[in-house]
Amino acid sequence: MPDRFDRRHFLTVVLPTAAAATVLASGTASAALPNANMEKIVLAAQCDPVKEGTGITPGAGPSVTLVEQALVDRGFLAAQYVDGHFGTATRSAYAKWQESLGYSGLAANGLPGRASLLALGEGRFNLTRPLTPGSRTTYQGFPFNQRTVDMLKEAAKLSGVSPVVEQGSYSPGNDPTSAGTHDGGGAVDIDAEALNGTQRTALVTALRKVGFAAWLRSPSQGNWPWHIHAIAINDTDLSTPAQKQVGSYYLGRNGLANNGPDDGPQVTKVTWEDYKRAQ
Ligand SMILES: [Zn+2]
Repeated sequence: MPDRFDRRHFLTVVLPTAAAATVLASGTASAALPNANMEKIVLAAQCDPVKEGTGITPGAGPSVTLVEQALVDRGFLAAQYVDGHFGTATRSAYAKWQESLGYSGLAANGLPGRASLLALGEGRFNLTRPLTPGSRTTYQGFPFNQRTVDMLKEAAKLSGVSPVVEQGSYSPGNDPTSAGTHDGGGAVDIDAEALNGTQRTALVTALRKVGFAAWLRSPSQGNWPWHIHAIAINDTDLSTPAQKQVGSYYLGRNGLANNGPDDGPQVTKVTWEDYKRAQ
């Protein structure tokens, strides 16, 4: 077992790990800080809590570890949970960190936002690939954020199908069949009654291609008409039930209470930011 001095020297020089970040934070101010990728952190915060075990979201491990170590250092998380898996323990700890900053409600549900991550990373890590849901707006008369509206417009362009919105975001308690998924940002229901099968598939495919977890919902699945329910992946305003649906989407499930298999068109799962970078 190396002593503390040896360990510091080794890690500082060789490995840009979370442990090194901790050591660096207590060292000189000019020392380079490690990078934490916000897109990966937020994706892990949606995907990891619904997993059976402690699997790590691809590419997210080092960034999540930096967040977890910072939560440990500030007394919000037990050290045993520093593992790169953004599970329920990390989510609870992150929610407490948000509350300590004065946030409440949606802004303190454990899904990291840019401001709380910047504050957490002070002296510990640099935040790269920052995410923002954009300003609040309306689209077809329904409440949305700008990021979701941009995604909807792009999906309409790709599919050639104009979406008719029947429920927007930021609508707590509007619809008891939605189980809270529309309480926060990033959620939309699109009327599919008037669309034929080809149009329905084209629109769900396009929504998925631009970064929505999107499913066609049929009357046989619940007490609702044909519609498309979609959640914008990596929207930092997602309600907790909406976050779980993104996790279910990544696990190949349907996002319903029965946790059935995803019966929708299979496309490579991407975020809006992934999509834009690929253009
Ligand atoms: Zn919905």
